[in-house]
Amino acid sequence: MRIRKTYLLLIFLFVFLFQVNASQVNIRILTTQIVNTFIFSPLDGTFSLYGDNKIINCDSTGVYQLSLDGDSITLKTVEKIIGKYSTIKIVGNEASAAFKLKCVLPQTKVHTYDDNLEVSVLSDKKQLLLINDVDTEKYIAAVVECESGKNVNIEYYKLQAILCRTYLLAHLNRHIQEGYEICDDVHCQAYLNRATEKNATLAVADTKGLVVVDNDLNLITAAFHSNCGGQTCNSQDVWAVSTSYLKSVKDTFCLNELNAKWQRTISLNEWNNYLQLKHKSIFNDTLKLIGATPFEQANGRPIYFIDKNLKIPLKNIRADFKLKSAYFSIVQVGDSIQFNGRGYGHGVGLCQQGAIRMSNLKYPYKDIIELYYKDVHVVNVSSLNYFKQE
Ligand SMILES: [Zn+2]
Ligand SMILES: [Zn+2]
Repeated sequence: MRIRKTYLLLIFLFVFLFQVNASQVNIRILTTQIVNTFIFSPLDGTFSLYGDNKIINCDSTGVYQLSLDGDSITLKTVEKIIGKYSTIKIVGNEASAAFKLKCVLPQTKVHTYDDNLEVSVLSDKKQLLLINDVDTEKYIAAVVECESGKNVNIEYYKLQAILCRTYLLAHLNRHIQEGYEICDDVHCQAYLNRATEKNATLAVADTKGLVVVDNDLNLITAAFHSNCGGQTCNSQDVWAVSTSYLKSVKDTFCLNELNAKWQRTISLNEWNNYLQLKHKSIFNDTLKLIGATPFEQANGRPIYFIDKNLKIPLKNIRADFKLKSAYFSIVQVGDSIQFNGRGYGHGVGLCQQGAIRMSNLKYPYKDIIELYYKDVHVVNVSSLNYFKQE
């Protein structure tokens, strides 16, 4: 089976790459807010409004306020109430349609979105459910910009576009029971505003349909973090789940970047109290004898503090002291303890600062993906479906 799949994959690499058709995705927006009242205003194009699936005769360029009222939504303009409905759909009439949305209750910043908005009342009747029905590629461009920031090398945007598309297609059922496909929070992928960077949109178009798969043609879990400090982690060492592609690799590209090094100092007392309270039995029996410091992580990334028989995972020390990473040495300086750390984040998968550096050095996105994810392939999702059906 493996040989057959590899063979098919090889054929695939030489055949014409099909393009996926434009499709829509349903994203819950303002997921972390309890939305009661908000203002909708057009940013580009005109809109048709539907109340309980019937067209509402109103201004297609108007500004509207929508508020929760029991189990209904009240729709009004500045001058008058238009009506009360169970659901309201605001549909863009042009492909370029975009709108602004500002929550009044509670107050939020203005957010901008493309295409269409569907509003209903959540089953608890205490808040509105806002769903952005948007073209998939526009959504990917927005997430790419959100995750990568502005003014980033286009090759890095391309890389993020492929990873974002891979994540989306692998998680389309994540919220299906709740009436939408994906949420706008970091629980799924951060999606705060429509894309405005031309390069983000270009990168999405240039990589249209491309996703990353493992040797069994499954979409990968494209884990990433800010900075690995010089070496990434095996997924099983951090999340207890082993995969063929989330393997520890050395990375020299991130070593001079912003989050490559960090330092944190605490008192010796605090450290001793921590070991005594949190790891009491071990502290009394062993740590006191061998001494808790110095502790070096010079060669690679161990999983446990001092000795694996002590069973103190470094990720627990990281969490307990809110350290930037679990990649650190410990030295005693007078009556203080110094954590000398490297990297920022869990360390699994792609190192963002290393990947940005590589893209600035003109490495193509494929090389960057293949450095951080082991034995993976960048393929077009249409062709992938074709091979999976074989
Ligand atoms: Zn989610
Ligand atoms: Zn790195």
